[in-house]
Amino acid sequence: MVPPHLLPTNRCDLMVFFCCLSSFDGVVLVTQSHDTLPPELEFLKAPLQDYSSVDSGLGEEVVVLKVPGLPGNRLVFASTGPVNRDYDDVRRFSDAAEKGIKRALKAGMKRPLLVCPPHKDYNSNTLVAALGALHALYMPIEVREGNVKPNDFKACVLGLWTVQEAEGAKLVELANALESGRLAYRDIGGSDPERMAAPRVADYVQELFRDSPVTVEVVSDLKTLEKEYPCLAAVNRCASSVPRHQARVIKLQYCGEGPIQKTLMLVGKGITYDTGGADIKAGGIMAGMHRDKCGAAAVAGFFQILAKLKPRHLKVMGAMAMVRNSVGADCYVADELVVSRAGRRVRVGNTDAEGRMVMVDLLCEMKEKAVREVSPQLFTIATLTGHAIRAMGPNYSIIMDNGPAHRSGNAAQWQKAGEVLGDVFEVSTIRREDYEFHKGKSEYEDILQCNNLPSSATPRGHQTPAAFLIMTSGLDKVLTHLHKSLCRMKCSGSSVPFVFRRSTVWILARLCRTPTSTLPAPAVLFLVSQQEPPSSPWQPTTTCSMASKQIILNVYNLCTSS
Ligand SMILES: [Zn+2]
Repeated sequence: MVPPHLLPTNRCDLMVFFCCLSSFDGVVLVTQSHDTLPPELEFLKAPLQDYSSVDSGLGEEVVVLKVPGLPGNRLVFASTGPVNRDYDDVRRFSDAAEKGIKRALKAGMKRPLLVCPPHKDYNSNTLVAALGALHALYMPIEVREGNVKPNDFKACVLGLWTVQEAEGAKLVELANALESGRLAYRDIGGSDPERMAAPRVADYVQELFRDSPVTVEVVSDLKTLEKEYPCLAAVNRCASSVPRHQARVIKLQYCGEGPIQKTLMLVGKGITYDTGGADIKAGGIMAGMHRDKCGAAAVAGFFQILAKLKPRHLKVMGAMAMVRNSVGADCYVADELVVSRAGRRVRVGNTDAEGRMVMVDLLCEMKEKAVREVSPQLFTIATLTGHAIRAMGPNYSIIMDNGPAHRSGNAAQWQKAGEVLGDVFEVSTIRREDYEFHKGKSEYEDILQCNNLPSSATPRGHQTPAAFLIMTSGLDKVLTHLHKSLCRMKCSGSSVPFVFRRSTVWILARLCRTPTSTLPAPAVLFLVSQQEPPSSPWQPTTTCSMASKQIILNVYNLCTSS
C-alpha cells in the first residue's frame, strides 16, 4: 500500500499529513463486496471470505474482524450494498462510511484509516466516503466548549487510502476544505438559540475569518436596520428589546485573484429561533426551530471553503440575515403594512412567513449592487417551508430558477453536480400562479406576504415565496433589462448545498446536514409524520405540486392500462 494520506478530524486547525501505516489503529473498508476489491487490496479478501463462511450477514451489517498484520490488527467492513440499481446513487458510499466510522469509534479506534477503492460508475466515491466519515466525526460546538468529553474531538486523525499519492493529496486538500466549511455550517446551524443568537453568530463569523481572504462587516445599529432593511426590521421588532437577541446583518466578501469572471451573490436566511411570532407555532411544532438559520449558516460555510481553496477569477458577496422571530408585546402581526426597500407595500398575512421578510431587502440590496458586478448570479438560501418536505420528503433540497437562470439551464446543472457528491436535490418551477398568489388584494397593498395558512397547508407553498421575493425586492422590474440571473434555492429540512459550475470549487455535499443524532427531530419532520396517506394509490395529497401530480397520474395510468 502507498503511504496513506491523513485527514485531520474536526478541529479548526486543518492540515495535511503524510504518514505510515503504523500511525493507525484500525482500517475501515467501504466497498460493495470483498469480491470486487482491486488488486492493491487483494490481501483484504481472504479474511473477509473467511468471515463470510460463518456470517451470512456480511454485506448487510457493519462488522469488525481481527486481522493480524493490519494497523491495530482490526478491520471494520462497512458494505455499501448494491450500487447499480436504478435508484442507487453515490450516497451509498457516504452512508456506509458514516456507519463504518461510528462502528470504529465504538471499537475504540482513535486513528482509523478509511479505505474506499474507486468505483468505475462513481467518479468521486472516495471523496464522498471521506465526507461521510468526517460527518460522523463532528462534535457539536456546545459539547466542545462545555468540556463535556475528555477531548474536543472524536478521533485524533482520519487516514484516507488512495492508489496514487498525488491523487490522495488532492483529495485530502479538497475534503479538508469542504469539511472546514461544513464544520462552520454545523456549528452555526445546529447550535441552540442562545449559543448562536444573532450577536454570537456575528462574533463566531468574525473570529472564523480573522486573517483570511474573506472580509466581514456586521450591521447591528437598529436605526440602520430599520432604514435599510424595513421588512427585516419588522420581524426583529420584538426581539430587539432583548439585547442578546437583537438582529445582525453579516456581510461577507471574497474576491479571488486575477480578473473577475463571475460574481455570486448569496443571501441566507438566519432565523436564530422561529416561534412563528404572533402566529405562534402551537401544538409542539416549535421544537427544532433553532435550525431555521441553516441558510445563513450555509453562506458562512461556503465562505470558509472559499477561504481555504481561494478560487481565482471569482467574486462572492454574501449576506446573512440573523434575526430571531420572537413573540411578545412588540411583535409584528398579520394585517400590518410594511414598505420594502424597493418601495413595495407589503401586507403581512402570517408572521410565521418571516424568512422571506428577512431576506427580501438584502436581496434588493444585492440587486442594486449587481449592476456594477461582472456576470452576477443572485441566490437566496433558506430552510424554508415545511411544504418542501411535503412535496419532496425530508431528504431532498429543492432548487428553483427564475427566467434567465432557467434559460441557462442553471438548476439542472446544479442537480447534476449534486449527483456527483451525493448532495441530491430536486428542481421545482416558479409559475405564473405564484405571482398571482402574492398580488395585493386591496388598494392598500401591492403585495400580500402570505395567506393565513402554514405553508405546508398551502398549495404551491414552496414555490410562491420565490415569487414574493422577486416581486418585493423589485427584481421583476429589472430582470428583463439586465438579464440578471436569480436562482432561488430552498431546502427541505436543513440541507443546503452549493455548487460552483465550471470552477475548481465543488459543491459542498451535505454541508448543511446537521448531525441529527445530536439534535431533536426538526419540526419539519413532524409535518411529514402528520401527512395523511393518500386515500388511493394515485391520489396525490392536496399539497403535491402539479408536476408530482402529473407524474403520479401518468404512472397510475400506465399501470392500470396494461
Ligand atoms: Zn417561520
